[in-house]
Amino acid sequence: MTKPFSYDFAIVGAGAAGLQLTLKMINDDFFNEKSILLLDKDEKSANDRTWCFWEKEESIWDQLAIQKWKTGLFINDKKTISFDLAPYQYKMVRSADFYAYAKAIIEKAKNVDWVKSEVSDIKEQEILGEEKTYHSHHIFDSRIPEAFHEKKSSYHSLIQHFKGWFIETESPAFDPEVFTMMDYRLKWKESTSFTYVLPLSPTSALVEFTLFNDQLLPDDEYDHYLKKYIDTYLSLKNYTIKEVEQGLIPMSNYPFHKHHSTYTTKIGTAGGWVRPSSGYSFKNADRYSSMVIENIKKGHRPEKGIATSRFRTYDSIFLNVLASRNDLGEDIFTKLYTKPEIQSVFRFLDEESSFSEDLKVMFSLNRPQFWKAFLDTFRS
Ligand SMILES: Cc1cc2nc3c(=O)[nH]c(=O)nc-3n(C[C@H](O)[C@H](O)[C@H](O)COP(=O)(O)OP(=O)(O)OC[C@H]3O[C@@H](n4cnc5c(N)ncnc54)[C@H](O)[C@@H]3O)c2cc1C
Repeated sequence: MTKPFSYDFAIVGAGAAGLQLTLKMINDDFFNEKSILLLDKDEKSANDRTWCFWEKEESIWDQLAIQKWKTGLFINDKKTISFDLAPYQYKMVRSADFYAYAKAIIEKAKNVDWVKSEVSDIKEQEILGEEKTYHSHHIFDSRIPEAFHEKKSSYHSLIQHFKGWFIETESPAFDPEVFTMMDYRLKWKESTSFTYVLPLSPTSALVEFTLFNDQLLPDDEYDHYLKKYIDTYLSLKNYTIKEVEQGLIPMSNYPFHKHHSTYTTKIGTAGGWVRPSSGYSFKNADRYSSMVIENIKKGHRPEKGIATSRFRTYDSIFLNVLASRNDLGEDIFTKLYTKPEIQSVFRFLDEESSFSEDLKVMFSLNRPQFWKAFLDTFRS
């Protein structure tokens, strides 16, 4: 019996991961005859985040990037370190631009149905939408499992939480060629907290106060730190806040891969696609979606080889140190981003580095807490 609303593939969540996966399916002839369902509870038209990432090569993201930087700064009370990213560039994409770009392509694809509906449950090959139930041969699911929220205290779990203001000034105040990766001069208590500054023009920038710890702040506290940073370190008195960006990203060694099942592959944050030591995941979504496509074409499990490498062990070590000594963040990130050359850190975060390069990165941190965490991780 053929079931109604039946698809070869269903993708739950039209976010960074779901949309990148859908676009790659549309782009690959293998999927021409496959029917694809994309479900999301939202319209996906608001600019709900901006994504930054580094890349060596030109890519589809260049047409969407609103700014690219070749030089970055790392600042603390003692020094300002400028680093040249070449051959990498740091790029910024507004989510609203990406959603509009993806929608235009998906609308033209005859084999993809985009349905606005909240998914309440997935049972084997059945997806329970608001008004209908859908059947799919295989399902890609970007909903974060409930068990993560319930059990995260059993793992090394931090939150990357932040609030940012897009500000505009009347006279030039920024160098749009140079962004600030981390400025540690202003911190929340003895925590891993810093300000991130992304200038978009001489008169506009995104200024974001960010913490990597386990404690969210009251909303006005982020505002207090943003105002203080802009007053004290950017020395700006007259500026307008044009837009606000706020968010949190889980940084955890929780085993998201345990939630894959026979008919379901978890993707995006829900699939462990966020690099726990950095919170970056946009480029992982690009890389891992390509791996999913290749795995399907070879008849393998779609998630084969994804987010389970030795890099997850390094991330556990990293989180272990930051969870037990959150005050060490400034020292660790200063060394990490400035002692080996930045390019080897990007390779490490992109999971492209060799074991000897990894050791170099780890040695550069030169902290006894790391060696203790290293031993703890291998003993457990
Ligand atoms: C404000 C912000 C800024 C960020 N900046 C960066 C950055 O600069 N660089 C970087 O690499 N990473 C960044 N991240 C982290 C990461 O890249 C993003 O969170 C990314 O969007 C994660 O992709 P995703 O597909 O897992 O989740 P999302 O993009 O959040 O997509 C999940 C989708 O699932 C839908 N959904 C959820 N539940 C249901 C349901 N029950 N039924 C139907 N639909 C559902 C949601 O509506 C959403 O559209 C940022 C995150 C935030 C929050």
